[in-house]
Amino acid sequence: MKKLKNFYFINLCLIIIIISTGIVSGKTEEPNAILISWDGVSKDPLLELMDSGKLQNLTGIYKNGSFVNLSITDHFPDTMSGHAQMLTGYPPEITGVFKSMRYKEIPSGLTLFERLEDSLGEDTIFTGIIASQEKSLGSLHGLPFYHAGKIVDYYYDKNSDAGLVGSVATEAVHHFANQGRFFIFIHFRDAADSGYAFGAGTQKQLDQIINVDAGTGMILNAVRDAGVAENTMIFITTDHGFNSGQTDDAGQNDLWLITNELGLNETGDQKDIVPTVLQKMGVPFENITPVYPGISLI
Ligand SMILES: [Zn+2]
Repeated sequence: MKKLKNFYFINLCLIIIIISTGIVSGKTEEPNAILISWDGVSKDPLLELMDSGKLQNLTGIYKNGSFVNLSITDHFPDTMSGHAQMLTGYPPEITGVFKSMRYKEIPSGLTLFERLEDSLGEDTIFTGIIASQEKSLGSLHGLPFYHAGKIVDYYYDKNSDAGLVGSVATEAVHHFANQGRFFIFIHFRDAADSGYAFGAGTQKQLDQIINVDAGTGMILNAVRDAGVAENTMIFITTDHGFNSGQTDDAGQNDLWLITNELGLNETGDQKDIVPTVLQKMGVPFENITPVYPGISLI
């Protein structure tokens, strides 16, 4: 009888261990990642809005995560070079994307989408690009993300405002969460448009930053509703800033990164984003060639 009791006890323990590791539930515990770009948002107006409680969604992430003071050190700070580095980890000499007036297709295989698909397997990881600006982030021949466009599972590249981006991204999150692991890049153009038109830090630009926060909130809700909040990393950053009050983006190299991940370094470089995401996704990046010039911020 004692032996039988032990047998049941051991079996019960095994069942508890199996359930707690998620094997029975069928849900993968391996992380997903969403990288969000708030185009053209300098650090000063961002902090001002956060301090006055107007960026509820971003602040919610920061409260349970990390704020990184991010710099650009090796390229011109504008939309195309910023996104090329954010999504490859490489400088213009390797990507061929020097600035928004001087660019070419990023060589095949170098983007984060291609790295993840190559390393984890195209049937294991689902990748998507939701970009709100056709000209700089589109998938046409000759544009930087042409090769990435051929391998991602979903590509949206229509000129769109924050509300539309939020709703497209909501659909994508629900769709991908049912498939398996995912990495999605999402781009909001509104604050940059307003910065170029009216000047950075103006009320009109601040209003657009608040709209982008609302669009980001739609994505966070989708992650929650799809039941993947526990294992989805959120990274929010910008491609470049503006000189305050001016419509010129040159010279603004002090940027920011906010994530729901705890324990990131307090300072970093735009080129560190890719190694950080790869490490968190379980892809060893140290032996990848060309060698990444950045480091993991963890
Ligand atoms: Zn930009």
